[in-house]
Amino acid sequence: MKAYVVEKINDKFISGVKEVDIPIINNNEVLIKTAYSSLNFKDALSSIGNKGVTQNFPHITGIDLAGIIEESKSELFKKGDKVIVTGYDLGMNTNGGHSQFVKVQDKWIIKKPKNLSLKESMIYGTAGLTAALSINELLKNGVKKEDGDILVTGASGGVGSISIAVLSKLGFNVIAISGKEDKIPYLKSLGANEVILRNTFDKVDKRPLLKEKFAGIIDTVGGNILNEALKSIKYNGVATCCGLVSSYELHTNVFPFILRAIRLIGIDSVEAKLEKKDLMWNQISNEFKIKSLDTLTKQISLNEIKETYENILLGKISSRYIVKF
Ligand code: NDP
Repeated sequence: MKAYVVEKINDKFISGVKEVDIPIINNNEVLIKTAYSSLNFKDALSSIGNKGVTQNFPHITGIDLAGIIEESKSELFKKGDKVIVTGYDLGMNTNGGHSQFVKVQDKWIIKKPKNLSLKESMIYGTAGLTAALSINELLKNGVKKEDGDILVTGASGGVGSISIAVLSKLGFNVIAISGKEDKIPYLKSLGANEVILRNTFDKVDKRPLLKEKFAGIIDTVGGNILNEALKSIKYNGVATCCGLVSSYELHTNVFPFILRAIRLIGIDSVEAKLEKKDLMWNQISNEFKIKSLDTLTKQISLNEIKETYENILLGKISSRYIVKF
């Protein structure tokens, strides 16, 4: 079978499409024939040997996939079942979804919801699951559309784009922060009511609190952008934090917390319990299902992964890239 393989040769990481053996499954495992996978920031990190993501090489990237069970040694799944896998160790130190066939433990697998096709489920993919988890935290913590604007950072990225589209569908007024001026029409077409250019927002302001502006924040970038945003949340506002594209560091102060009673909630889609993922996928296929899925997708082949990884790492891509098998 064909797969996108990263190899460590003389301390250098080299990656590309290779012929490899189809894996042999053990008890409680299945062999999935991949229909679609997607490309995420973490996959790009894995492809350059980022130790926080992958330590064992050779390695096949791809932290998510949607496909059909080809062979099963699990009591939970049978040949022909349509399934989705995201997170856990897939694509980290376990061979991932950028492969024609993938061996997966049954405890990582979700049955595809009826209202989503295999392709649609990978347009959402890990990014969509993360957006859904983030939006769910805002809703669960009482943020309502009447409360005011929701700020979305890293707007043209996977998590950002889907968050904008879902929030807009739910009736929220969305303000997006993006580094890409040329993507403003795209972000507005997804549902952003206003777009702030990143370089006008990402400035260090020494004041510990700024004018109250946002009822909620979906942050995907961390660093100074998250800090500046936190200083502008309204009383009782809620922020979620899932990513580190700008920086893994967060230097902030306690005033937004102790004077405005704001909440900052961490999001992890990787190790979330399977039941929670199942719940989220059902939500994605119903109330979070958006119409603009095709607008935010670029479909590529295994052979186009390499150049796409390069663009992801340069922060140049926008929207979602799915790999069709
Ligand atoms: P993408 O690569 O699709 O998008 C990231 C976006 O961030 C870019 O499109 C760009 O958007 C913006 N950006 C790029 N460089 C910078 C920079 N230097 N400073 C600020 N913003 C920048 O990533 P994803 O949307 O897939 O993921 C976003 C983050 O969330 C990543 O850090 C990822 O690892 C993390 N993540 C975490 C998960 C979890 O479970 N916690 C799951 C999924 C992702 P623009 O130009 O519009 O600003």
